Amino acid sequence: MSDCLFCNIASGAIASGKVFEDDDVFAFKDIHPKAPTHVLVIPKIHIATLADCDNPAMLGMLMDRVRMIADDVLHLAAGYRVVINVREGGGQEVFHLHIHILGGKKLPF
Ligand code: AMP
Ligand code: ZN
Repeated sequence: MSDCLFCNIASGAIASGKVFEDDDVFAFKDIHPKAPTHVLVIPKIHIATLADCDNPAMLGMLMDRVRMIADDVLHLAAGYRVVINVREGGGQEVFHLHIHILGGKKLPF
């Protein structure tokens, strides 16, 4: 979607702090980090919210990439938090599905 911020980041039309990319996903540093490591993982195809995705293979692929990126790219061996905000009530501000990976310190609940 040409008017979607994260579609434009995934395509490279808007610059970002890329940490990983493959055919299916793009991962980049959050511009307002809430932890020493704060990375967003997005599918390259436009899906507005988690609630709009009824594709188990897609969701499984995304979680597998999150696990791999946290371990192999971000080296968060001590642990990390995974967050998906869903729609306005869940605090979602950008309507392209994204998974937050937060780590680098002991996170309070
Ligand atoms: P959410 O509230 O779950 O929709 O999270 C959206 C996240 O996107 C926020 O943590 C923002 O700081 C982050 N964000 C917004 N614009 C950018 C950008 N251009 N580059 C990187 N992160 C961004
Ligand atoms: Zn999009």
